Amino acid sequence: MIIGSHVNYGKEGLLGCVKQAISYNANTFMFYTGAPQNSIRKAIDMQDVAKAHNLLKENNINIDTIICHAPYIINLANKAKPEAWQFSVNFLKEELKRCELLGVSYIVLHPGSCVNETRENALQNICGGLNEVIDSETKVMILLETMAGKGTEYGINTNEIKQILNNIIYKNKIGVCLDTCHLNDSGVDMSNFDIYLDEFAKEIGLDKVKCLHLNDSLNPMGSHKDRHANIGYGTIGFDTLINIAYNPRIKDVPKILETPYIEDHAPYYYEIKAILEKKFNDHLKEDVLK
Ligand code: FE
Ligand code: FE
Ligand code: ZN
Repeated sequence: MIIGSHVNYGKEGLLGCVKQAISYNANTFMFYTGAPQNSIRKAIDMQDVAKAHNLLKENNINIDTIICHAPYIINLANKAKPEAWQFSVNFLKEELKRCELLGVSYIVLHPGSCVNETRENALQNICGGLNEVIDSETKVMILLETMAGKGTEYGINTNEIKQILNNIIYKNKIGVCLDTCHLNDSGVDMSNFDIYLDEFAKEIGLDKVKCLHLNDSLNPMGSHKDRHANIGYGTIGFDTLINIAYNPRIKDVPKILETPYIEDHAPYYYEIKAILEKKFNDHLKEDVLK
């Protein structure tokens, strides 16, 4: 299984990310190139990138499984303020360039929030923005994340994701990231994941799934909340999440944990262990804090 978690880019950039992933016994990871809620980004130190790549090789981590996540401040769906929308487009372009410098092939993107626009207009705004960002030279694939339906989010069902994909000019440069918490909160029965995959396969195609965010949810199916829980500590539950993680139809898709920290400590070493051993950890907090 290709499994890892969100890691912090921090002072050491990609090199620090690799070190954290190794400490969690992960064989992949996901990172933001800076704080997810702002646009302050420091220049990439190519010497550190070379060191990071060496460390990846030494630990048999395939760089093609590593995922970047675009910051939340990017919103392509709303164009009420054209300059704010253009800022999102430009910032996403820069993020793709940063990924290219880092040697990372995938970046997850939230399709955006409609705010005061109709869903039809939001769709046009998203596709217009993506078609401005993606051209024939683009080397990094954008992965649209399935959203919970909190507020006015777009991309909250298979049809909305399909609508975006259908309107992208360079279709081989866009894919999908499934998030188990978001799917649950959007109304998908995760205990029947194969039924969801059947629908996805029919409407979009499973070859488009390039990443899976493996999270439990604090809220019931269809709640439209988007609050992540630790593995086995939410409404989806351990057995269902294990079934999803080991589903043969998404075997080669990287699984990324975005579960909450416990009192400022990352739980990922223990959560990855529980998933690899298929054994629920009922004393996760004690383990993490010890
Ligand atoms: Fe996300
Ligand atoms: Fe996610
Ligand atoms: Zn989420």
